[in-house]
Amino acid sequence: MAVFTLPPEILPFYKSHIQFITEEAVNPDRRRYAVEGEAERHYIDVDVYGDSAHFTLPRYWQKATEIYPEDTLKAYGIVPWHVYRMKGWLTKAFRERNLEQILKLSADLGHYIADANVPLHTTENYNGQLTGQRGIHGFWESRLPELFVTDYNFFVGKAVYLSKPQEEIWKAVVGSHEALDSVLLFEKQLTDRFKGDKKYSFEERNGITVKVYSREFAQSYHEMLYGQVERQMRKAIKMTGDFWYTAWVDAGQPDLPDFKGGELSEELLLQLQEEKVRWETGEHVIERE
Ligand SMILES: [Zn+2]
Repeated sequence: MAVFTLPPEILPFYKSHIQFITEEAVNPDRRRYAVEGEAERHYIDVDVYGDSAHFTLPRYWQKATEIYPEDTLKAYGIVPWHVYRMKGWLTKAFRERNLEQILKLSADLGHYIADANVPLHTTENYNGQLTGQRGIHGFWESRLPELFVTDYNFFVGKAVYLSKPQEEIWKAVVGSHEALDSVLLFEKQLTDRFKGDKKYSFEERNGITVKVYSREFAQSYHEMLYGQVERQMRKAIKMTGDFWYTAWVDAGQPDLPDFKGGELSEELLLQLQEEKVRWETGEHVIERE
């Protein structure tokens, strides 16, 4: 959806590959358990660094490594630093007019930016496991959009140039972390109001009966959050467009030659397919949603 924020110079290029970008955008999650060094790119547990660490943590990786051992940083997640690093990679790909890399990096970058805009991706208590709210991660991130996404408005306007992209991605982390309080608190309040058998219900998925948060519970929670999920998703879409656009501008606004479907290399398509299969056959361990 970030594609539609782009200016006419690059919109057609992205648009003609929208399907690839959409598919590829879920790949970072598929890789999480299979690729060393991947998992930490999706989150940052800012609260382990102290109370207002989201305001004070070094915005630049170099600075951060002067204060904390790299192992520590990686253990608690590196999403904002990684987004900035990827922006550099994408700029380079534009400069070299490496069209496949542009597409792949754009999609991956969009994924990490979206992660940074999810409140539960900024805390050690990422699945409510520390507060007796286990399951809240998927509830906020998947169940709510699944039920209500058709009411969301994803028209976010035009992409703008970011003179300090690093500051921007940190703003996302700060915003997400500020939203975390209500994410946890409202769920707790509602849980007290809904008796055990009303909080969950059962639905059929691919012939299997699964336990889900009930529609009533989800509806009440969604109302209490007052548009928060939609707001965060809109921010992610806008920011993704801004990052793509900024990388292109920083690369000197290169012309993108006509690059229509069917020209993606066998290798890239195969890679995409393999990651998909690996995911679908369950070659991954869910330890952190
Ligand atoms: Zn992710």
